[in-house]
Amino acid sequence: MKILILGVNGFIGNALVRRILQNRDWEVFGMDLHSNKLGDSLHHPRFHFLEGDIAINKEWIEYHIKKCDVVLPLVAIATPMAYVKKPLLVFELDFEENLRIVRQCVKYGTRIIFPSSSEVYGMCPEEFFDEDTSTMVLGPIHKQRWIYSCSKQLLDRVIWAYGQEGKLQFTMIRPFNWIGPKLDDLDAAKEGSSRVVTQFILNLLQKEPIRLVDGGFQKRCFTYVEDGIDCLMTIIENPGQAADGQIFNIGNPQNEASVKDLAYLLRDLFRHHPDHVHDSHYSQIIEVTADDYYGQGYQDITSRKPSIEKASRLLGWEPKTDLRTSLQFTLDAFLAEAKEKNWES
Ligand code: UDP
Repeated sequence: MKILILGVNGFIGNALVRRILQNRDWEVFGMDLHSNKLGDSLHHPRFHFLEGDIAINKEWIEYHIKKCDVVLPLVAIATPMAYVKKPLLVFELDFEENLRIVRQCVKYGTRIIFPSSSEVYGMCPEEFFDEDTSTMVLGPIHKQRWIYSCSKQLLDRVIWAYGQEGKLQFTMIRPFNWIGPKLDDLDAAKEGSSRVVTQFILNLLQKEPIRLVDGGFQKRCFTYVEDGIDCLMTIIENPGQAADGQIFNIGNPQNEASVKDLAYLLRDLFRHHPDHVHDSHYSQIIEVTADDYYGQGYQDITSRKPSIEKASRLLGWEPKTDLRTSLQFTLDAFLAEAKEKNWES
């Protein structure tokens, strides 16, 4: 099998390519702006990498969409601070560039596995978000946070429509707060543009306060990346074509925690880490308003929990890694990276 992964150096891309090269005989073609997360994969004989921008290297992409069996277009801006500060960039990259890829998959009859997002459910009031029945609830236009959700939702609808017309073999995945090594760059966290777990780890390292937006009562279900990759591998293999024409939530409903719980748990794990057990002090945990943290274009999601009944029924998938272990693995990887780069000094 030949696979094209666009955004292969990203959080999901780098973990996926490593798993594929280790466990399968597939050939992988990948593109990304950077290669810093790819490690040994870069030198693997079955991995063919081009450093470049998907908005520029259009011919390379079209050629490989034609040549490959399956495409995973993982390029996207996926951090809430960017939705609020750079909404047009989010639309151009996440929607416009990806629409072109979707259309080329239609043109060449190539299967697509598209990363939708748990963000598409927005402020859905249901306890468990279901791929096929839940209502999607977004805020007003001036709350620019929703541009990402809306862009992803419209692409989901376009892909679905091509599928209904029999023009596209697709699967959509909706990751729910995946965490793990290389989640974001610590430098991005420094600018406030990273996901919450990376942000808190950076705060702990720099002895800055951990900031709970609006008290940190909002809840998420944190999912360990390797559990997510297990599911994605089954989707790529597509036994009995079980994944065709389906949307799958990929999350761990058992790992639900409030942002406040997350902050205390991470600080506790940090305190017990061998490199930090003797630190003279640790980050405070303080509260800030959403307006102060993100500006006025932000609106939060109180709770986001997946139903994973479909992934279990059709793919036989269940997540295995509990919250504490997931955070421990993530923290250990970040602290090792920080040590290597001399971040603490
Ligand atoms: N958050 C926070 N402090 C931070 C960063 C994020 O309280 O320093 C909150 C944020 O408001 C949101 C949750 O943590 O409610 C998860 O944020 P993340 O950026 O990981 O993305 P989301 O799950 O909202 O897509």
